[in-house]
Amino acid sequence: MKDFENLSSLQAARLLSRRRFLATTATAATAAWLTPRALFAQQAQSQEQAEPIMVVQARIDAATAKITTQKLRGNVSVLIGSGGNIAVLPGPGGKLLVDAGISTSKPQITKALAAISPDPIEGLINTHWHYDHTDGNEWIHAAGATIVAHEKTRRRLSTPQEIAIFNAHFPPAPAGALPTKTFTTDDSLKINGKTLILTHYDPAHTDTDISVHFADADILHTGDTWFNGAYPFIDYSTGGHIDGMIRASVSNLAVGTDSTILIPGHGPVGNKQQLSESHDMLVAVREKIAGLKKQGKSVDETVAEKPTAQYDAKWGKGFVTPEMFVRLVYQGV
Ligand SMILES: [Zn+2]
Repeated sequence: MKDFENLSSLQAARLLSRRRFLATTATAATAAWLTPRALFAQQAQSQEQAEPIMVVQARIDAATAKITTQKLRGNVSVLIGSGGNIAVLPGPGGKLLVDAGISTSKPQITKALAAISPDPIEGLINTHWHYDHTDGNEWIHAAGATIVAHEKTRRRLSTPQEIAIFNAHFPPAPAGALPTKTFTTDDSLKINGKTLILTHYDPAHTDTDISVHFADADILHTGDTWFNGAYPFIDYSTGGHIDGMIRASVSNLAVGTDSTILIPGHGPVGNKQQLSESHDMLVAVREKIAGLKKQGKSVDETVAEKPTAQYDAKWGKGFVTPEMFVRLVYQGV
């Protein structure tokens, strides 16, 4: 029961109903994202469940996850360890957070935020709809935060969603988790005397992605338009596309200066040089796979050619395996 102690009674009830299932499937997974192998094995069983097993597992892991705080520049910090990376700007006007992490990390996130400053949470920006960036929305909203997101994020959180590659079906988020302030193109806002620029990329990792530029500190939170040091996940089911990921990389590279600090959706805090290497890898892999597809190769034949071989040592150790990445790119070329 240790894993359940931080959950609400409703969440605990949902988990308990799946205990037998979890007992046979949850052994190997410790990360917020399961390995693709584990996910594929769970497809059929997760079908009729209210929430995908990947979400259930992420909540169990996040209940005991260690949250690391990294101070960046201009009073901006990043919390790493619960779902996507969370940026924090404190101040007398209240704290502004970018992304919400997994709900069951509330105790650790609350503690980490209190160590930064005593300011209450005033605002939360969601970079996109995925649960590892929005699962904490409900408690953060209940704590008093306005939730800002692109209108497509609100639309996807309000209605059932599917991520086909995992055969994962997501029910609508609770009303209290929905963004309360949305925009349709790009936006900017001011808090604690600082300007934040919100830029929408569509399509990219999904059709809901935005980046958030802390203009004064010159720090860019890219959301999941950048995975630092790993092949990115591209969610075609909710509007993502490899070409949009490449365009988002180009746009992210054009923001700020050569010394812009970059907070990726996943992976360590990075810089323009690293983002540039990611961009070049995406372009090269895309061209290679497009060429194979043009020759008439099937997706399985393309996988068998190992078109990412020269990149796998550097990029292939993340949540997205080389094979999965080839399949994702193939789908879009
Ligand atoms: Zn995502």
